[in-house]
Amino acid sequence: MKMPEEIMVYCPFCKKRSKHKVKVYKKGKTRSVARGQKRHEEKGRGYTSKIAGKVTVYKQAKNPTVMLTCSVCKKKHPKTIGTRTKKVLELKKV
Ligand SMILES: [Zn+2]
Repeated sequence: MKMPEEIMVYCPFCKKRSKHKVKVYKKGKTRSVARGQKRHEEKGRGYTSKIAGKVTVYKQAKNPTVMLTCSVCKKKHPKTIGTRTKKVLELKKV
């Protein structure tokens, strides 16, 4: 899957269409000290979460997300593109 490095889209901060720089978004590292993360790990402990004969779940394809940076106000906002794909998102130069 390919995408141009610069696109014309609507900016929610300027409230009009402007040129945006495209960058592939990756989820950051999870903090193990965060309250919600601790709560989640607590659920996986002990005998209760162990299920015998669990069916293996195949990984589903995901919607790729890009981070757009406005050329006018320099603010960032995310955008999810298209349908679910297993292909890696590439940025092509125009
Ligand atoms: Zn803007």
